[in-house]
Amino acid sequence: HLKEQNGYAPLNSDFENFYVRRLKLRINDVFNRPVTGVPGRKITLLERKTDDYCKTFQLTGNTKECLNLSSYNYLGFAQCEGPCADAVEQTVRKYGISSCSSRAEVGTLDLHQQVESLVARFVGKEAAMIISMGYATNSTTIPVLVSKGCLIISDELNHSSIVFGSRLSGAFIRVFKHNNMNDLEALLKECISQGQPRTHRPWKKIMLIVEGIYSMEGSICNLPKILELKRKYKFYLYVDEAHSIGALGPRGRGVCDYYGVNPDEVDILMGTFTKSFGAAGGYIAGDKNVIDYLRLTSHGSIYAESMTPLVLQQIYTSMSIIMGEDGTNEGRERLERLAFNARYLSTNLRRLGFIIYGDRDSPIIPLILFNPAKIPAFSRECLKRNIAVVVVGYPATPMISSRARFCISAAHTKEDMDLILRACDEIGDILQLKLSSNQKRLT
Ligand code: PMP
Repeated sequence: HLKEQNGYAPLNSDFENFYVRRLKLRINDVFNRPVTGVPGRKITLLERKTDDYCKTFQLTGNTKECLNLSSYNYLGFAQCEGPCADAVEQTVRKYGISSCSSRAEVGTLDLHQQVESLVARFVGKEAAMIISMGYATNSTTIPVLVSKGCLIISDELNHSSIVFGSRLSGAFIRVFKHNNMNDLEALLKECISQGQPRTHRPWKKIMLIVEGIYSMEGSICNLPKILELKRKYKFYLYVDEAHSIGALGPRGRGVCDYYGVNPDEVDILMGTFTKSFGAAGGYIAGDKNVIDYLRLTSHGSIYAESMTPLVLQQIYTSMSIIMGEDGTNEGRERLERLAFNARYLSTNLRRLGFIIYGDRDSPIIPLILFNPAKIPAFSRECLKRNIAVVVVGYPATPMISSRARFCISAAHTKEDMDLILRACDEIGDILQLKLSSNQKRLT
């Protein structure tokens, strides 16, 4: 049904086919399903059916309220009541919805400067710059930090925004096996021996790019080892903390906080506000002279609408709470609840016999389904029990390691965790997902 036009290949090419074939199967999962309210502890999904040809989804008008294990609402700040919502409401009345301008024109509000200095303090860097979209923070900043004649060394599972920015930069890119420090060192040896790469001239710059927590794997980057290699081989280090900022470390300040490392050792700390802060956009933090340079060169900042006032306020209030600057223990309590929930669920899922990837401190818990055919079945069984969880497979994961990803939040209670464990126990039997005790002994 894809038509050629004017002799050219159709604009939607084969990609439509690729998804349409799976559409019927995905009717019962949360994939691309409209939501009618706050993505908090619970989420309300609209029910849907497919048309006769399974080409499109149609809404039925009914809704379904589920326990939400599918949003990146790690600290439970995605809500429409409480201190963040009150402050945002007042801000909207004072500043409106949009700055209607870019930062370099008249789009810099006092709020932008307040948020930037709070972010810099929070992550332990001299300065920070914020951009209205997390994706653009990577993809428009990396190309102004490195360019042709430079080398980027990238973890094979780095996010699309990093890959996009790296390609856009024109730098030479080498990839190492996910979080594998032996493979990274072998690559560094090959590229940096005696300061001379295998090209006729030394690289202008070498930058290693990794993430704090990998969102498909739940793995935490091995920062101490990376820093050891940095001292030995010398390169710039860029860490994307989209999933670790606010979610990791005793003070919620990301991977440096988690490992007790001085943030000065990392050249660039990048993160997003879409997860732990329940807001939107991203930040880049580093030395003041680097950030000043980025303000003048990063296209995502100079050619795009500046961050909106309500988003700024949500970030400011939630970050102040995490830092305890509101004078309460609420931030600390949220961090402790998140850490407890994540450990409790991953430990007990393993105990039930599931294969769980990732680190036990990660708020993302991937439960491995192996066979792609089990993706829709797992989702359907979860939805039957009013649990919303994202299931992913190829091409986002290797074909044989399809998975369900439980995203844990401080908004969840222990009773919620127990409910999920009971549901997974039943579903694991139905879909034969658990290891037998013999298999467990072998793993
Ligand atoms: N970096 C990483 C590691 C991410 O996972 C994401 C998105 N989840 C982004 C950047 C882009 O952030 P945003 O969704 O805020 O645009």
